[in-house]
Amino acid sequence: MFNDKQDIKREQELAEIEAGCGKTGVGIPLGGGSGGGSSSGGGSSSGGGHPAGVPKTGGHPAALQRHGGARSVGFRPGGGPAAIAYEERTGIKPPRIIAWEITRSCNLSCVHCRAASEFGTYPGELSLDQIKNTIDDITAITNPILILTGGEPLLRPDLWDIIDYAQEKGAMPVVGTNATLITDEIAQKLKEHKIPRISVSIDFPNAQEHDEFRGIKGCFEDTIRGIKTVKAHGVGVQINTTVTKLNHKKLVEMHDLAESLGVDAFHIFMLVPTGRGDNLRDLELTPQEYEDALTWAYDRQQTSSLHFKPTDSPQYYRIIRQKAKEEGREVTPETYGLDAMTRGCLGGITFCFISHVGDLQPCGYFDMQLGNVKEQPFGEIWTNSPVFNDLRDYSKLKGKCGACEYKAVCGGCRARALENTGDYLDEEPYCAYVPKALRA
Ligand code: SF4
Ligand code: SF4
Repeated sequence: MFNDKQDIKREQELAEIEAGCGKTGVGIPLGGGSGGGSSSGGGSSSGGGHPAGVPKTGGHPAALQRHGGARSVGFRPGGGPAAIAYEERTGIKPPRIIAWEITRSCNLSCVHCRAASEFGTYPGELSLDQIKNTIDDITAITNPILILTGGEPLLRPDLWDIIDYAQEKGAMPVVGTNATLITDEIAQKLKEHKIPRISVSIDFPNAQEHDEFRGIKGCFEDTIRGIKTVKAHGVGVQINTTVTKLNHKKLVEMHDLAESLGVDAFHIFMLVPTGRGDNLRDLELTPQEYEDALTWAYDRQQTSSLHFKPTDSPQYYRIIRQKAKEEGREVTPETYGLDAMTRGCLGGITFCFISHVGDLQPCGYFDMQLGNVKEQPFGEIWTNSPVFNDLRDYSKLKGKCGACEYKAVCGGCRARALENTGDYLDEEPYCAYVPKALRA
């Protein structure tokens, strides 16, 4: 049994892991921060402290810290008075993490971009006043981590007003950026505006391949310089890597690069082929390659010096349980930390995405607009959308996922199901597992 303090800490840790699916997850150090004013954490599309651990010795604090969460003190996303009152009133969990595309404009043209962003003006983007109104609506029902992403959020001159207002209303903003625009002045501003962590995407361990993938020569160097600059100002950094056929054999090198840069976290994102990424279907891993990548991640997590976790990979939570069984261990908070306490897909459950024009989606990859925050209060959409409510009811899952003994801890990627068959409750198309109930 845990005492209250432990329960609260685990609740915070749980919220950290939930940060991360949907686009650029940023896992955050929820409070304290480590020495020297530098926090560790982060990622774009909501990533955050993965438990990880599997501490073989039974949950050593260093292992928990390595996998995020151990620094979580002081801020409980989705745990404030408004959130508690909302859950009591509706019986629905409030969002803990919201990824918010505050602009679609971007200075890069990455091949796999969910938003297919380009540099320029996008009609209908939320104004500062509309963003502030939406923050009011959100904080009426919860106190979440707000992942401010894009496009490139640093292209929005009022980014600092958004950050200040969100903090004033009790939310915790973090920033998902490509880091190429970061100067000393911007890094200092991130620090002054109390941003605990930024997340930065790097997809290859060398300039040539990364620049080709990202569409701009020199952006690898610019990104590395940006990372070093924010670190020098005491802001935490998370590196995100989108995994495709082009780089899945380079994950060891990517992990080494992240370690050598001294960042706080490294998250691998399994490509979801929507947006410009739709052109990358041929680059998507096969189900078996996914399985291999996630199994490698499980093993690498044991000794990584980073907070290291796979994202957009619900099957990972099934693999944890399979590996634990092989190793003769039970999956409990004592043995597996946060991994024992969350599930794979959290879209619509405790996570959602707001687009540049205010459309609300279960995640950035789930291409279905469930309402618009310009027309309806955020809480009304979160509470009443039939799609959100379907996603909260695991008994509605179909196909292999519906028959699967792991559906409560995994659930499959609903965005991939939607993309594959048009039915978001259908089976996850990239899972190699055959549920027991379907075996001959
Ligand atoms: S069949 Fe579906 S629920 Fe089961 S492990 Fe695979 S993706 Fe997860
Ligand atoms: S639908 Fe897929 S990409 Fe979206 S939150 Fe769920 S697992 Fe992540």
